[in-house]
Amino acid sequence: MTKYCPKCGAQNPDDAVYCIKCGYKFPLEASEQPANDQQKTAESAQNVTNQQAAQPSTTSQTYYCQECGQPVPHGYIYCPVCGSFKIAPYPPSYIPRPAGVTVLGIIQIIFSAISLWVGMTFLGMTLAPAGGVFAIVGIAFVVAGALSLIFAVAFLTGKNWGRILMMIGAIIELIDFPLGTVMGILILWYLTRPRVKAYFKQPK
Ligand SMILES: [Zn+2]
Ligand SMILES: [Zn+2]
Repeated sequence: MTKYCPKCGAQNPDDAVYCIKCGYKFPLEASEQPANDQQKTAESAQNVTNQQAAQPSTTSQTYYCQECGQPVPHGYIYCPVCGSFKIAPYPPSYIPRPAGVTVLGIIQIIFSAISLWVGMTFLGMTLAPAGGVFAIVGIAFVVAGALSLIFAVAFLTGKNWGRILMMIGAIIELIDFPLGTVMGILILWYLTRPRVKAYFKQPK
């Protein structure tokens, strides 16, 4: 199955988000399909394009998008997944950390530091009357801060479980209407972008 680009008329795989010839971004509904179907269609579309591309020469080399790592058949000018034109006959060597991941990671480190600081402050008050309660609260904040710091470092260094945890956090944030809802949706949207996913899924 193929669809045609309304801008340049090129044949595209059915699940292409960007035109492989001109980079035109297809309207969203056009690419909505169950994930399994999409994969099958992409495979068959790739086969078709492979055969077409292979007609002049018998070599059918796999090319790769250098920005999101998507394998594409020879002849694609734009990546159908992310729209990048950086396509080369080898897999991308290293996908650099996207700026938004750095920002989210730093915010997480700040939260961790605040939690550690609050915990230390409470632990400093254990000599006061009812000091035992302060100690319990203090230890809880220190442990939470330490775990949050481990998570922040994992997220920044591209561990995929860090991305999953950040997404779970964003889902919980959705309840906090309106600001948390907006932030949660933005974070979920951002962390599922092909380029961002590729950063977390690349072999380390
Ligand atoms: Zn086009
Ligand atoms: Zn791409």
